[in-house]
Amino acid sequence: MRIKSIREREIPLAAEIRNAYVDFSTMTASIVAVESDVIRGGKPVTGYGFSSPGRYAQGEIIRNRVIPRVMKAEPAALLAPETGDLDPIRVNAVMFQGEKPGGHGDRSVAIGAMDAAMWDLTAKLKDQSLAQLLADRFGDGKVNESVWVYAAGGYYQPGAGPEALITEMTDYLAQGFEHVKMKIGGAPLEEDAERVAAVVDAVGDGARVAVDANGRFDLDTALAFGEMLQPFGLLWYEEAGDPLDYALNAELARSYAGSLATGENLFSVQDSRNLIRYGGMRPDRDWLQMDPALSYGPTEFIRMVVDAESNGWKRDRFVPHGGHQLNLALAAGLGLGGTECYPGVFQPVGGFLDSTPVRSGRVKILDAPGIGIEEKSNLWEHFRDL
Ligand code: MG
Repeated sequence: MRIKSIREREIPLAAEIRNAYVDFSTMTASIVAVESDVIRGGKPVTGYGFSSPGRYAQGEIIRNRVIPRVMKAEPAALLAPETGDLDPIRVNAVMFQGEKPGGHGDRSVAIGAMDAAMWDLTAKLKDQSLAQLLADRFGDGKVNESVWVYAAGGYYQPGAGPEALITEMTDYLAQGFEHVKMKIGGAPLEEDAERVAAVVDAVGDGARVAVDANGRFDLDTALAFGEMLQPFGLLWYEEAGDPLDYALNAELARSYAGSLATGENLFSVQDSRNLIRYGGMRPDRDWLQMDPALSYGPTEFIRMVVDAESNGWKRDRFVPHGGHQLNLALAAGLGLGGTECYPGVFQPVGGFLDSTPVRSGRVKILDAPGIGIEEKSNLWEHFRDL
């Protein structure tokens, strides 16, 4: 097996929404195709990967640094010595050549999209779903039949009042979700208290509602919001403070008795380990949300899972950020707790396969080869040209 060519493109993920920090009207993502010299059915077996919402396309890093390293590597450096099969973990090490440790930022997104494509290609070469490949290599060989998903939304929409928020959340329930997430921190505490109360009332139970501050709060504000949120008995309180402010998170965990969730902006096993060491996260109730597509791909994400396990965390406390098919495959194959979903936004990357709608808050896992991108028509349109 040889890699013949690697192509990338930027696609828009535009959405007229904003959270406490980011206006998403200019959001983009990178898509990548890795073509092998293996021909099946008259066509080269090709791996596809994409980056997740929130960090923009990274075409320049992919084109100028990552692709040349893979194409210049000795073919044997990309293969498992025992089997001669493509080994994404070895490819990941090649992609990281020349990069200093620390400072994980946009390059983790660039390598993440490439790494996802390598895993997709590896699974296809074995004629397996990515979930099955991961279950065989890192689990007990069993793929979960379905995965829990929740609807993330509740953004601050320009010009829309609380009625629009209630309609959005009850629509998610009508679409088959059982849990929803809404943004907080983009309005004063009193106004957010009313928004949360209205959503809990509409959904019927605080345990079915999560809130997300997107890292906006300082310690005092995080604690004040925690006090306001506590009586609602929420599913979780997400990213209260800056993602790297572990002391703030630890302080909040000492006073907030409910569940906390964070990790979507930690892009390396080192950052993830620091969260677990210093962030006060509690394995019995809190949630880890690292996003494989943003953090050097499945390879580094698996390192995070293994590291967390060795520190007393169960795999089902991982619920990755980024509502897409890659994370669904990882959740099913590694036995994670579930994954996010953004119904209707961040298309075409967002959401799952056309034939697997959400039912009773879960998405069925198909046995399609690789990630299954070919089975999601609006995403496949972009890859087909690539
Ligand atoms: Mg979030």
